[in-house]
Formats: sequence, C-alpha cells, structure tokens
Amino acid sequence: MKTTELHELRGRLDGINEQLLELLNERARIGVLIGEIKQSLDVPVHDAQREKQMLDRLAASNEGPFDDQTIRHLFKEIFKATLQLQQPERKKQPLLVSRRKEQADTVIRLRGTAIGGADSVLVAGPCSVESREQVMEVAASLKRAGVPVMRGGAFKPRTSPYDFQGLGFEGLRLLKEAADEYGLLTISEIVDPRHLEEAAAYIDIVQIGARNMHNFELLKAAGELRKPVLLKRGLAATLDEFLHAAEYIVSRGNTQVMLIERGIRTYEKWTRNTLDISAVPILKKESHLPVLVDVSHSTGRKDIMIPCAKAALAAGADGIMAEVHPNPPAALSDADQQLDIEEFEEFVREVKASGLYREAAG
Ligand code: PEP
Ligand code: MN
Repeated sequence: MKTTELHELRGRLDGINEQLLELLNERARIGVLIGEIKQSLDVPVHDAQREKQMLDRLAASNEGPFDDQTIRHLFKEIFKATLQLQQPERKKQPLLVSRRKEQADTVIRLRGTAIGGADSVLVAGPCSVESREQVMEVAASLKRAGVPVMRGGAFKPRTSPYDFQGLGFEGLRLLKEAADEYGLLTISEIVDPRHLEEAAAYIDIVQIGARNMHNFELLKAAGELRKPVLLKRGLAATLDEFLHAAEYIVSRGNTQVMLIERGIRTYEKWTRNTLDISAVPILKKESHLPVLVDVSHSTGRKDIMIPCAKAALAAGADGIMAEVHPNPPAALSDADQQLDIEEFEEFVREVKASGLYREAAG
C-alpha cells in the first residue's frame, strides 16, 4: 500500500519537474528577449531594484511550506542564471588573452628580436634616463653583453612628488639616440594617454607600469596603438586582474602585449616586493602572451638577482628585465637596486651560461 503511494507521489513529482523545466525555459526565453532590449537601450543587464521587487513580491505571496528565505534563495539562483543568458556574447567566451581562445604563443617581433618565441630575451637599462653620457654608457654595455632591448624611464611614477620625476620627452629622445647608436630597441613607461602618440616616435615598446595597471583609460588608449606594450603586474593585483588589464589592451585591437611579473606587496621585508615565481607558469598556462620577470623591482636586491633570474627562466619566463646604471649610488631613482656596469655584465654572463637562457645559435 505504502509503496504504491510512494510510486504515485514520485510520478506526480516527475510531472511537476517537467512543468518546472518548461516554465524555467519559457522564463529564460523571455529573459533573452529582455536582454536584447537592454542591450539596444544600452542599459546594464543587472537591475538590483527590479530584482528586489520580484523577490519581495514572491515572499509576500509565499504560503509555504518553504520559508521566505528559501524562496528568495531559490529564485535568486534562477535570476542569476537568466542574467548569465543576458550577457553580451563576448563576455560569455574565454578572454582574448586566454590560452583557451588562442593556443599558439604570441610572438612579438621587432626588427631582429622576437619576444615570446623560441629564444629568451633580456631587457636592461637604467631606472631613469638621466643624461646623454649615462644612456650612452649603458647602451654600449648592452651591446657588448648582447642585450637587445634598452629600458629607461622618462616619466617616472614616484612615491614622493619631491623626488626626480624624469626628463619627460627629452629623456625619451636621449634614450632613442643612445639605442640608435648601438642598434638597440627601446622601452619606456608612459603614464599619460595623451603622451602615447608623441612617445611612439621614440620608443619601440610602451611600458605600462605597476601603478598604472588599473588605469583603464591608459589601457584603452594603449589598445588603440599598433605598437607592442609591456604591461607590469600591479602592486597588489591578482593574476585574474592582471589578465583582465591585458584584455583591455587586446580587446581594442592591439594584440602585441607582453606581461611582466615585477613582484607583489606582501608582509616580507627582506625583499622590496615578493617575486611571485608561481605567476610565471600560471600565466604561461592561462595566456598565450609572452611573460617576462623584472628581477630588479621584484627583489630590490642585487645579491639575489642571478638566482631569481634563473628561477624565472626555469619556471618558463620568456625574458628577464634588470636595471643597470653606470654609477648606481648617484642614481636619481632606485639607487640601491641598480647593477653597475661590471655587475650587469657578470649578471648577463651568468644568466646566459645557466643553460636556462634560450638563444639561437649564431
Ligand atoms: C619601472 O620599471 O621603471 C618601474 C617603475 O617599475 P614598476 O612599475 O614595476 O614599479
Ligand atoms: Mn626602477
């Protein structure tokens, strides 16, 4: 007797499930139509007030046995699923920077240098461009060491407004002059979207610094450029935020983006920042963009740069960035962490001899 009743009740539940399924999908179809209207009106998909009204109305007409909390919870899930259907097509797909979207590695080719391909790359130069003599001496050293890309800040995002702010466009001009003299590529940080166009005449790669990784207007403007961009990880950015920052650039049509891990803020004080070495294999796995590691800003310590550079390469980094200055104690920024010329040449020798640095024969 009881088993017949159980069977009959279960049959009724099955029927109700079918009805619910039909109703849920009918509701979803209406949701999609509403989503299209929202898109044409350019209004946000989520309307918190409307959601609250619907939940309040359901709670008011709820006669149980479900309590109001449970009803709210169940319907919220339904609303969430419907909102998902209303998202624009692009948002439902993997990010453009993601490996799921593009399996092949992005390789950025600049004259004779390829970044993100079979060979490793080194990027080096002073923290700030200070004088013609300074950049000439550094450029000569890069040439001797076989380092193809020269960095040098001209627009410096300094903590204190009273510290050296960089030479601006004159700095970019000096950087290019020295780089041209020795056949090097240039990279420099730009902090103001209005400077991008003018700066493009002097630099081969635009750097977006850690402090500006969340500057979305700068990211969008960099996305309009047709020039490689080196995007630094923010001081406290998660890898998801980092990849989304890159997506801002790539989604505007500039696909030549490189990521660089430069250390994150933690409680550890024995290094300037904490080099998140795990970011390297994760970014390489999640994204097809080249991944570099800045061993100067991440560690702030000259004595551990060689092992950290080796660790980065062993973890799969496509390249390394380091700061070098002819006279570090007199440097106008980052005096403590910049290698002098001799230390730099030793650094390059050690890194290249490690067996981890990939270099085309000849
Ligand atoms: C730099 O590379 O010059 C610099 C300022 O680094 P970060 O943005 O990583 O602090
Ligand atoms: Mn610096």
